[in-house]
Amino acid sequence: MISLSPGAAAAERAPVEAREVRSVLVREPVNLVELRREAEKAAKDLEVATKALEQRRAEIQASEKELTAKLRELQAAERAFAQVRQPLSDLVGLLYQQPIGGDLASLMSGGSDVSTLRAMTDATQLVEERERVLEESGRLHAERERLAAEAQEIRAGNLLSEAQMGAEIQTLQARSDKIVKSLTKALVKLGVKVDKSGQAAGGCNPTKAASIGDLPNGLIPKLYLCPLQQRGQELRADAALAFISLNEAYRKRFGKPICVTDSYRSLAEQQSVYYRRPGLAAIPGRSNHGLGLAVDLCGGVQNFRSAEFNWLEANGKEYGWIHPQWAYVSPFEPWHWEYDPKLGSLL
Ligand SMILES: [Zn+2]
Repeated sequence: MISLSPGAAAAERAPVEAREVRSVLVREPVNLVELRREAEKAAKDLEVATKALEQRRAEIQASEKELTAKLRELQAAERAFAQVRQPLSDLVGLLYQQPIGGDLASLMSGGSDVSTLRAMTDATQLVEERERVLEESGRLHAERERLAAEAQEIRAGNLLSEAQMGAEIQTLQARSDKIVKSLTKALVKLGVKVDKSGQAAGGCNPTKAASIGDLPNGLIPKLYLCPLQQRGQELRADAALAFISLNEAYRKRFGKPICVTDSYRSLAEQQSVYYRRPGLAAIPGRSNHGLGLAVDLCGGVQNFRSAEFNWLEANGKEYGWIHPQWAYVSPFEPWHWEYDPKLGSLL
C-alpha cells in the first residue's frame, strides 16, 4: 500500500473563522493603525493559505507521479507473465495430448525406465510452473485493479481538497480586498486624493510595503506608494499611513496640518536636488527619501526647538516617526524626519 496523501494534514487546516471575518466587516475600525494591522493580517493569512495550496498541489503532483509509475510497473509485470503463460499452457496441452511413453501398469510393476520417470517429473514441474504463473498473473491483475481504484479515490479526494482550499483563498482574498478598500475610504475621508488607477489597483495598500525590501532607492513603483493629504507628496504606503495619523494628531494640537516640502524622491529628483543644492541633499541613491521613508518639513518644524519641532520630537515615535540622530548634528537638518518601519510595525 503506497501512501499517496502526504498533504492530508494541510487539507485539514482550520478554515477561516467566519466570526473573525464578520467582526472586521461590521466594526468600523477606530484608526488607521488598526486598519493597517487588519490589512496586514489579512494579507498574511492570504499568503499562508496560498502557499499551503501551492504545496498541496506539489504533493498531489508527486503522488500522481508515484502512482503512475507503480501502475506502469504492475502492467509491465503482468505483460511479462502473460508472455510466459501462453507457451507454458501450450506445452502442458501438448503433454496431455501425447502421454508419456510407458503405461501405468508397467509403472506400478516397477518396469518403467529412467527416461520415463524423468519425463513424468518434468511434466509435473511444468504443470506446477504453469499454475504458479497463472496465480502470479492473477495476483498482479488484482493488485493493479485495486491500485487503480485507490488512485481514483485519491484523485477525487485531491480535487475536493483543492476546491476547498481554493474557496478558502477566495474568502481570504475578498476579506483582504475589503479591508484595503475601507482603508482607502478612510484615507479619502481624511482628504487623501487616492487616484482612480490607484484605487483600481487596490488603493492605498500598506500590505505591499512589507515585501518592498529589495526595491532600489528612487525607483519604487507607484503600487507601493501612497499619497499624503499634502498635495503632490507621497510616501511608501506604511510610512504614509503612519504620517497621515501623525498629521491628524498634529492638526489637533496646532490647528493646522504638518507643512511638507519634500517626501518620496525618485532617483531623477534626487539627482536634480543634489546638483542644485550640493551638500544639502544626500548622494542620489542613498537617501531615505528615495525609499519613501523620509519627509522634509516646514511650518515651524524646520526651526530647531520650536514648539512644532518639540511636539514632533515628543510624539512622532508613537506613529513610528523620528528625527534621526545624525540630523541633530551632521548635517544639521531639523526639517528632516524619517519613518522607522521596525518602530511602526510594533504599533
Ligand atoms: Zn530630507
